[in-house]
Amino acid sequence: MKIFAILFTLLVSALAFADSIPDQRANRIWIADVIIISPENLDHIAKGSVLIENGRIARVERNAAARIPARAAVFDGKGQYLIPGLIDSHVHLASVPGMSFDQSEGKPEMVKAYFKQLPRSYLYFGYTTLVDLAVVDQQVLDGFRQAPLHPDLYDCGGSLPFANGYPMSFAPSAVRFKPFPNFIYDGKQADRIPPEYKPEDHTPAADVARVKSSGGICVKTYFERGFAKDRNLPVMGPDVLAEIRKAATQNGLVLMIHANGFEAQKFAVDGDVDVIAHGMWHWGELDKKTELPDEIRRLLDRIVEKKIGYQPTMQVLYGEVAYFDPEYLQMDAVTKVTPKEMLEWFNSPAGKWFGREINEEGAPDAAMLKDYQQNWLRRPQQVVAYLAGKDANFVFGTDTPSAPTYGNLPGLNGYLEMKQLQKAGMSLAQIFRAATINNAREFKMESQLGSIEPGKIANLVLMKKSPLETVDAYDSITTVWVHGKTVPRDSLAANSSR
Ligand SMILES: [Zn+2]
Repeated sequence: MKIFAILFTLLVSALAFADSIPDQRANRIWIADVIIISPENLDHIAKGSVLIENGRIARVERNAAARIPARAAVFDGKGQYLIPGLIDSHVHLASVPGMSFDQSEGKPEMVKAYFKQLPRSYLYFGYTTLVDLAVVDQQVLDGFRQAPLHPDLYDCGGSLPFANGYPMSFAPSAVRFKPFPNFIYDGKQADRIPPEYKPEDHTPAADVARVKSSGGICVKTYFERGFAKDRNLPVMGPDVLAEIRKAATQNGLVLMIHANGFEAQKFAVDGDVDVIAHGMWHWGELDKKTELPDEIRRLLDRIVEKKIGYQPTMQVLYGEVAYFDPEYLQMDAVTKVTPKEMLEWFNSPAGKWFGREINEEGAPDAAMLKDYQQNWLRRPQQVVAYLAGKDANFVFGTDTPSAPTYGNLPGLNGYLEMKQLQKAGMSLAQIFRAATINNAREFKMESQLGSIEPGKIANLVLMKKSPLETVDAYDSITTVWVHGKTVPRDSLAANSSR
């Protein structure tokens, strides 16, 4: 009897001892003493603790006195704010910021270092889930998913451009079909489509079926008449969009459309798309109106009524502005997401080639900035302000990179996008919901992501400031949890010594 008692005591103390060893590999982590900010509970923000178990959120205690669970490694988050991992539902991982395709081919070492850092840059700014809208290079996506530490990555498979339309129009006609195996055949252009492509293989139904079988969760198509040298591109009619809509619904896929003008967004709303993947910077004949015109208000009202997901993608324009803003490359945050050699190249005359392309006439920086502010930025800002006033269904997406610009760096671009959304008139709560629960709902991942609730994936972000008090909170991150794995933010930086 006595021996049994001694053994029992030894056993208990051994267990207690095991409990006190902090173990990063422990599959039970108790994040203690944090202020929990979760989008379904914004009226009830409380101090508490969260238990992670096997990569999932197991318990959420909104009670400062909750007891530490047995055999859990304690992570002291004292006084910091815990939010769900952020979701960016509009990225293009295979495109290298600041480089044309030929330039990236010519600098393989620089590009290799960039892709190695890529998943870490997104995590550095709290992005634990991404949606790639147009798979053009499956290898890059595979490499991303195989990285030791990376955000969850979903995609829309190969996108559905209209034959010879945007964006396949960027490539010479002889080679533009191969990279877009899901292009939509147009009988009227039969003489401009190589004979090996058969109409029956390129119907909306056949294209959407290929997206589905490739594992895509969404369908991406385009309405874009073009700009600069490529105006008057062929675009689809409502009949084609209706067929895509039908096939997307049948396959349970989210329908997204590239539409950045009044005409294009009207086409999108008439066609009942799920997500409009850009803000509205072209107003057509209304471009010069300084107030938001009634015609546009009426369209925006329909976007609100239909609860269409809206991605303002302000950084598409600011990504161009970066070349005329002497402070952009000087930001400390740039060094966190850009490998050193690449940043040196961006700062060299050769690295600024894209700025010269945007500003062909060589106007002074100040004049370029003024033009953006008075026209290109003003219009989408007015649209965002109106939609924010009606609490539209904003879904957060950055379109990183939207062009070969160094003004769209991974991770950092999301932070800058949030700043621009706030400047345009969205509230901090709207921005927070857009990047968490709204995205999760829109992409049918709500049971897994988007809030801090038991059962969801333990993708979490800890920050020093409250994202409901200042947008700067999104650059005050200290720790990120990726499927329950604790990752100190500093270790994710491109210039980290760890
Ligand atoms: Zn895009």
